[in-house]
Amino acid sequence: MDFLPVFLNVKGKLCLVVGGGNVAARKARGMLDAGAKVRVVAPEIAPELVKQHGVESIVARFESRHLDDVILVIAATNDRNVNKQVSELAQARNIPVNVVDAPELCSFIMPAILDRSPIMVAFSSGGASPVLTRMLRGTLETLIPQSYSRLAVFAERFRESVKQRVSNPAKRRIFWENALEGVVAEKVMTGDEASAEAMLQQMLANEDNIQRGEVYLVGAGPGDPDLLTFRALRLMQKADVVVYDNLVSKPIVEMTRRDAERIFVGKKRNDHTLKQEEINELLVRLAKQGKRVLRLKGGDPFIFGRGGEEIETLAAEGIPFQVVPGITAASGVASYAGIPLTHRDHAQSCVFVTGHLKDGTMNLDWEQLARPKQTVVVYMGLHGLDILCAKLVEHGMPDTTPIAIVQQGTTPNQRVITGTLVTLPGIAEREKPQAPTLIIVGGVVTLREKLAWFHPQA
Ligand code: SAH
Repeated sequence: MDFLPVFLNVKGKLCLVVGGGNVAARKARGMLDAGAKVRVVAPEIAPELVKQHGVESIVARFESRHLDDVILVIAATNDRNVNKQVSELAQARNIPVNVVDAPELCSFIMPAILDRSPIMVAFSSGGASPVLTRMLRGTLETLIPQSYSRLAVFAERFRESVKQRVSNPAKRRIFWENALEGVVAEKVMTGDEASAEAMLQQMLANEDNIQRGEVYLVGAGPGDPDLLTFRALRLMQKADVVVYDNLVSKPIVEMTRRDAERIFVGKKRNDHTLKQEEINELLVRLAKQGKRVLRLKGGDPFIFGRGGEEIETLAAEGIPFQVVPGITAASGVASYAGIPLTHRDHAQSCVFVTGHLKDGTMNLDWEQLARPKQTVVVYMGLHGLDILCAKLVEHGMPDTTPIAIVQQGTTPNQRVITGTLVTLPGIAEREKPQAPTLIIVGGVVTLREKLAWFHPQA
């Protein structure tokens, strides 16, 4: 370790910035944000810096006396000699000094920061690679939600009362872990502090029985892991058990917590590894064991995902749960296939239907689906493709209407097969698209030819 990381309290203390340009202004702002008084010295000082409340500006060349009463110095001039002089004079007086972009002149360095005040993450590559530091910052941005600020303030508010109620330190630690990783934290982060407080009080009242299970019903999107939401990822990393089916792509399952138990509940067509009722019961059973259960579903849980049924059972059993939306297949697949779902010239509306066959037929409102200027997206429709095309034509849709089948959209195996209501069934028979497949019907399908060439995923 080359440096000792510290957080310095500069409230009301005098800090010096030598230099009057943009960089100097940025450094001064950081110091002001932390409550310091800032003295700025330079022959020319940017006007917005002079105007800042709390800034004492001295329009002059730097001199030793400007270091009087100062506890910290940053030199940000473009004159190497001045920077060097600041560094030497400050170090002679044992005042910590940083010179921008000159590590050899620094007695301290400024870390990159991620500000979730009161939580502050500071990190540094010790000057080895600023680019790497910036990349790392990007990663941390996604892992540490903005709402952690709120969470920290909430925790501070109850710190004393929890300390009084749960006097045993080890028990208290577990109490806080449960609160800050569980449903209380989720409530705070979504802005519902009143419920969070009620739950915290309830946890305090039952503090002998603090382990409490919950279920996260999370939409994993159509396949490409890049299409996960931050919230999905966060809960995936938190859950103790993962219950998933075969619509969830392998790379996404791999992103769940490494030591989490993984339970596959299948559901290929006609091969229900577990029946829906059994899945509902499984979720309840796991949560009752005190586990944080991730129910990971393809696409969006509330679009042809039976998410509604799963949460009904949970609600009936009094198990806390949350639902995280995902990018539904229609949206993700259309975008990656270069087919806009609506378009001023082709479609002013878009309907999503399920083409699931029941007793060999598709029970749909054909009149409504055959309307002009509308895009129809059919989930689970491949096995009824013949019926779909024939019924649409029968109800007045022109037989030249373009239609596409997208196989395994957004994954490396994506394949788009196009035709018309008359030709596509035959083409599909020859091409044998692999599940899952999505069917898109309407004029928008023709746009693909214009757009796909420029479209990296299509
Ligand atoms: N809840 C899911 C849909 C579940 S129904 C969602 O919101 O996307 C399952 C159907 O979704 C499949 O039969 C198929 O029609 C469609 N589907 C899901 N992922 C797909 C993908 N990557 N490519 C094509 N179709 C997909």
